Amino acid sequence: MDFTKKIAIVGTPCQILATTKINNYNKETGGSPIDVKIGLFCMENFSYTYLRKFLEEKEIDINEIAEFRIENNLFKLFLNNGQEKSFTLEETESFKRNNCEICVDFASDLSDISVGSVGSPKGYSTLIVRTEKGQNIINKAISNDYISAEKIPSDSKELAILNKIATNKKEENLKNIKTRENSAHPVLYKRKISNTEIAKLSNESQFDNLNKDILSEGACVLCGACEFVCPENIIKIGQRKPNNLENKNKHCLEGCHACYYACPRTFLSEDIRPQELDSKPIGDYLDIYSAKSNITEKGQDGGVVTSLLLYLLEEKIVDEVFIVDEDKNNPWKPVSKLTNNPELVKKSAGTKYSTIPIAFKALQND
Ligand SMILES: Cc1cc2nc3c(=O)[nH]c(=O)nc-3n(C[C@H](O)[C@H](O)[C@H](O)COP(=O)(O)OP(=O)(O)OC[C@H]3O[C@@H](n4cnc5c(N)ncnc54)[C@H](O)[C@@H]3O)c2cc1C
Ligand code: SF4
Ligand code: SF4
Ligand code: SF4
Repeated sequence: MDFTKKIAIVGTPCQILATTKINNYNKETGGSPIDVKIGLFCMENFSYTYLRKFLEEKEIDINEIAEFRIENNLFKLFLNNGQEKSFTLEETESFKRNNCEICVDFASDLSDISVGSVGSPKGYSTLIVRTEKGQNIINKAISNDYISAEKIPSDSKELAILNKIATNKKEENLKNIKTRENSAHPVLYKRKISNTEIAKLSNESQFDNLNKDILSEGACVLCGACEFVCPENIIKIGQRKPNNLENKNKHCLEGCHACYYACPRTFLSEDIRPQELDSKPIGDYLDIYSAKSNITEKGQDGGVVTSLLLYLLEEKIVDEVFIVDEDKNNPWKPVSKLTNNPELVKKSAGTKYSTIPIAFKALQND
């Protein structure tokens, strides 16, 4: 991995949290070249295998799907022949990933810039600016005509809806966490303990502890951070959860705790994610906009993420960006790639609603 490069990541809140931990604990994890964090809004994520099973049961050919969209509490499929199919969110339970039920971040609270659809009209993206770095990028992307953006007034109906949806997710999932804790399944990242204790416990932990505390508890989000930071290549993650099956005879390096520090589901200190964010529906921010691309038609919502990535590359603010493309043999199966090719960035616009070890897999192959 080339640490002289600067990279922008696009990811779900759990992937943004993993990135934050890797960079924050760079002494323990080795760090990463990720410099700009563009987070997506996220209510839940789906298993590709079970999504395909569901589609087969409904006799829908995945090759014929032009777009997936979650809208007005419905899971909608738009087919190439113009037909639309809708399912209730209850019907998605069979392919929704259970670990999302203990996630308390909706709007990627730890990103530089967050983007989602809720809060804006069709064809626009809601854009939340959180850091000075994010503010500079957005100001210049607007003045250089990559995107058009209008501030969302603080008393608007749209912002109230966004806050309500984010509050519902946080409250509901905090309840789920309590239920898990009651049945003796610890959710480590919600434990209130001191930095000293976090360091002590983490410094006693290696892959076996990650396995016991996170993987066996069904808390893994499949982000791939553990695989990425492992200096011994002990951890492997394919479509299933991380494991050391191929490397059972390899021992962890003495003094290495990188995977445990990097994992977004192990302990979280106040300086990485303050607990007070649990009661701030969309996190702390500087500005919030409804925005639209001026340079591309293709996009899940306003094409804002694609335009920002193109801006970052063309203005050489970063050297490469992560994108999530489709596997050429499996329609809608996400594959992460690191690229500086604008055509690939444009091609990868649109949401693939399934889990993959997105960013970190691509970094590992760099
Ligand atoms: C799993 C998931 C759940 C989401 N849930 C919600 C929600 O509940 N409410 C809401 O308002 N918005 C949600 N979003 C965000 C929304 O779908 C759009 O991604 C966002 O509004 C940006 O739209 P855009 O047109 O600006 O992006 P585009 O210009 O279309 O760019 C989309 C970018 O996302 C990347 N991408 C695609 N799939 C993934 C993936 N699986 N993981 C990481 N990156 C990916 C692409 O590489 C591309 O760069 C979700 C996104 C994902 C990936
Ligand atoms: S854990 Fe699930 S709901 Fe939470 S950010 Fe990750 S994919 Fe989204
Ligand atoms: S060597 Fe062991 S402790 Fe270190 S990252 Fe790899 S699996 Fe984890
Ligand atoms: S165990 Fe590995 S893949 Fe799973 S959440 Fe933790 S770091 Fe991510």
